[in-house]
Amino acid sequence: METPQQPAGLHRRVLLKISGESFVRPGERGIAMDEVLHVARQTVRAAARGVQLAVVIGGGNILRGSAFTAGNSGVQEATAHSMGMLATVINGLALQDALESLGAQTRLMTAIRMEGVAEPYIRRRAKRHLEKGRIVILAAGTGSPFVTTDTAAAQRALELEADILMKATRVDGVYSDDPEKNPHAMLYRELTYQQVREQNLRVMDATALSQCMEHGMPILVFNYRRDGNIERAVAGERIGTIVSGRRDG
Ligand code: UDP
Repeated sequence: METPQQPAGLHRRVLLKISGESFVRPGERGIAMDEVLHVARQTVRAAARGVQLAVVIGGGNILRGSAFTAGNSGVQEATAHSMGMLATVINGLALQDALESLGAQTRLMTAIRMEGVAEPYIRRRAKRHLEKGRIVILAAGTGSPFVTTDTAAAQRALELEADILMKATRVDGVYSDDPEKNPHAMLYRELTYQQVREQNLRVMDATALSQCMEHGMPILVFNYRRDGNIERAVAGERIGTIVSGRRDG
């Protein structure tokens, strides 16, 4: 079964990157299910438009590998990253139940095998789930240490042939400076990969940006906290900042 006919502007297949921080109130840690449900509600509404949605989930609300790498923590760096990847699985399970409580069909796939709780990530199978209209949650990052879920998002967007990688953030897009600290920071509407690199703008980590740049995968950075924005983004509305190889003027 294919997804329904799409109206013009609507993306066909989207890779949505959601950070762990969206699962918790600002400044807190752990999981707040009301926050998860807020993201889930928007995601379900977006999927209901007929777009195929794959979600890469972060783990920063629970644990980041980098937290253990500074100084003498007693945890090896690679181990710390494995812990971070497992944190994304915890988030994936929370998101799956939130989405299903809203009536969505989902599959949770992990890059580290743990069949008791989720399916292993297999590219062809993930595509099949997407074609059937299931929301596919991709957890455990790339399965390899020393990178972040941004890189996993870029990797999966490419291998699943998504039209676009959408990064959901707490701010309206890419700014000239940190808008949470500098009230004069300027919001960009369009950028090229090159501009992001040269100006060292905060979009995604360098590995993820390079991958997208090399393969021409557009990136949309937008604010998931504004209700309805995930829907607007998948519908192709001009919100946030688009990073691509060219400027449309
Ligand atoms: N991680 C990893 N390999 C991956 C993806 C993630 O080792 O492919 C680890 C890394 O330590 C990272 C942590 O998992 O800090 C949680 O992911 P991330 O920091 O990207 O979460 P987010 O900031 O998006 O919530």
